[in-house]
Amino acid sequence: MIKAVLFDLDNTLIDFVKMKLECSKESVKAMIKAGLEMDEETAYNKLLELYYETSLEDHLIFQHFLKKNTGKVDYKILSAAIVAYKKIVNGLLIPYEGVYDTLKKLKSKGLILGVVTDARKLNAWIRLTSAGLSNYFEIVLTLGDSKYKKPHKRPFIKAARQLKLKPEEIIFVGDNPQRDIKGAKKVGMKTAFAQYGFSFKEKTNNEDEKPDYILNEFNDLLKII
Ligand SMILES: [Mg+2]
Repeated sequence: MIKAVLFDLDNTLIDFVKMKLECSKESVKAMIKAGLEMDEETAYNKLLELYYETSLEDHLIFQHFLKKNTGKVDYKILSAAIVAYKKIVNGLLIPYEGVYDTLKKLKSKGLILGVVTDARKLNAWIRLTSAGLSNYFEIVLTLGDSKYKKPHKRPFIKAARQLKLKPEEIIFVGDNPQRDIKGAKKVGMKTAFAQYGFSFKEKTNNEDEKPDYILNEFNDLLKII
């Protein structure tokens, strides 16, 4: 019997991609205003291309962008991008539709809820708080707590231990087959793939990345638990 639901954070609870796209738009405008010689659409597309190539969590994305496209990092332009990004980012950290309601319903069914993320501790908490999600979870396990990134077994085992549950009593929800699904399966948890949040990655058919359930919307969870 399922007694707990563990969630990945980015692109599972919080719409990280939407935030990145909105922030990118504003940053591009600010860079052009600060002297970047490129039209808005081209710059925006090049920035997104770079996110695809590196990672949505590339913390030096603007440095990389400027270096690649202008041959150097102009600090006036760089700072314009970062300031524009920071100005709007927190307001854009919002959960997917149905998250609050679904979490409340799961809790009222007696399920224990938790988060297991590869994000750093403070970053994870800032995102949870910005998204209005800081009061829903019994445990929030971050990279700082487990020291190993998913799909390593450590974060999953540590979460189960903290909840004092067997892995098979837990369902793990995540948007990344290679990290979330594979890792949770390895330790014997049930898995639900957050297909609605799956982006920027190739789909795979690997057996060890195949989830027990697929969620097209967040509240599909209520159908399986
Ligand atoms: Mg994720």
